[in-house]
Amino acid sequence: MDEVRTLYPEAYKICQQFEIDQHKMEEIILRMTREISMGLAKDTHSRATIKCFVTYVQDLPSGRERGRYLALDLGGTNFRVLLVTLESESNVNIDGKTYGISKELMEGSGVKLFDFIAQCLSDFCKDHKLENANLPLGFTFSFPCKQLGIDNGTLVAWTKGFKADGVVNKNVVELLREAITRRGDLKVQVVAILNDTTGTLMSCAFIRQNCKIGMIVGTGSNACYVEKTSNVEMFPGYQNSSKPHMIINCEWGAFGDNGVLDFVRTRYDVEVDSHSMNPKKQIYEKCISGMYMGELVRHILVELMDRDVIFKGVKSQTLQQRGRFETRFITEIESDEPGKFRNAAMVMDNLGIRTTNEKDLLCLRYICETISTRSAKLAACGLVCLIRKMNVKDLAVGIDGSVYRFHPHYHRLLMQNMNLLLNGTVRYELVLSEDGSGRGAALIAAVCAKD
Ligand code: BGC
Ligand code: MG
Repeated sequence: MDEVRTLYPEAYKICQQFEIDQHKMEEIILRMTREISMGLAKDTHSRATIKCFVTYVQDLPSGRERGRYLALDLGGTNFRVLLVTLESESNVNIDGKTYGISKELMEGSGVKLFDFIAQCLSDFCKDHKLENANLPLGFTFSFPCKQLGIDNGTLVAWTKGFKADGVVNKNVVELLREAITRRGDLKVQVVAILNDTTGTLMSCAFIRQNCKIGMIVGTGSNACYVEKTSNVEMFPGYQNSSKPHMIINCEWGAFGDNGVLDFVRTRYDVEVDSHSMNPKKQIYEKCISGMYMGELVRHILVELMDRDVIFKGVKSQTLQQRGRFETRFITEIESDEPGKFRNAAMVMDNLGIRTTNEKDLLCLRYICETISTRSAKLAACGLVCLIRKMNVKDLAVGIDGSVYRFHPHYHRLLMQNMNLLLNGTVRYELVLSEDGSGRGAALIAAVCAKD
């Protein structure tokens, strides 16, 4: 860092703008706490940026759930169909198939998107001789949905580059059932719709009784947590529910959509946002998640190259193009051993920048670290906010998503910053949740089938 500071003062100065000190982190937590309280309460819900959607999941798994379930997972770059067999606590068998979602499907007509989903499901079931098995199916649909029941969810807005028309404001369970009926070659029961964060929490809770938060840092970012039912005013039965808890899907990605995060945002954030598919929306998510981290690095690099600070004399057409610096490059660059630049040189080579200048590559790594560190700090703020809100002293947090899973230092960065903020007052554990979207969907389907 000192080396970057002396050799690349311009780069250092840009990166300084992404620094978030402890004081600012506490301010972020305070503001987030307010938005969550507003989201939960009837009077303020409509004005809240963090909507705190009711999931209608009130039971955590007991660990004794068994049986065969189907799960659909839509929400990132891929779509998956899964057959989940809960054999025992230690033996969950998942058989699945992944299908790419093309840009045309993401941006075309909703009917086509759901026809595609139903077709994949049908193909999968036929392959497994399940077309008449009438298995319960859980639909992991990882977008903000207002739920009216466990099997009723209305899409509020697309995120993460999706914009298929005719889906916003519709009950997506109905759209799925209609697509299945249109085919007429399949017997399944769509019993639940859930968010990936809920699946992640459930999947972690299956093995750890004290799991109280599910978080995703992947293409997008979000978290859910266990709230007291009596605090969930948007749930019609909140005052006299026989069940003490309700999982709340925060949809924290939208935090900052009213400007409350502008005090930590930079002009690079503004730039990335303005070229996104949903300008001025999902502001917190755009500072944290994989869909945007690489793009932030790219903007900084392009500026530094224009100013002839880094990779002097080199021109790269590729780097000029939006989206070409992928977030997985950050992961690769930061995976180089200290003092080595093998991955970094390879990544840049693939972008048309051939260099052996290790100082330049050191500066590049510093920029990547700046963006991933800020992401982890902001996510840590979110987790600490939820932990304080629940007032628990001992918990596990289930986490999934490509950034958390693959970035070599993300886990450490999260813990470092949570420790700073929690200062030894809480015992917590961050647990990689194995395939929350699949297992979690099966567990919810199992818990539903029990009622
Ligand atoms: C969506 C959330 C989802 C998160 C992680 C966000 O863009 O709004 O529903 O949980 O991405 O996949
Ligand atoms: Mg996913």
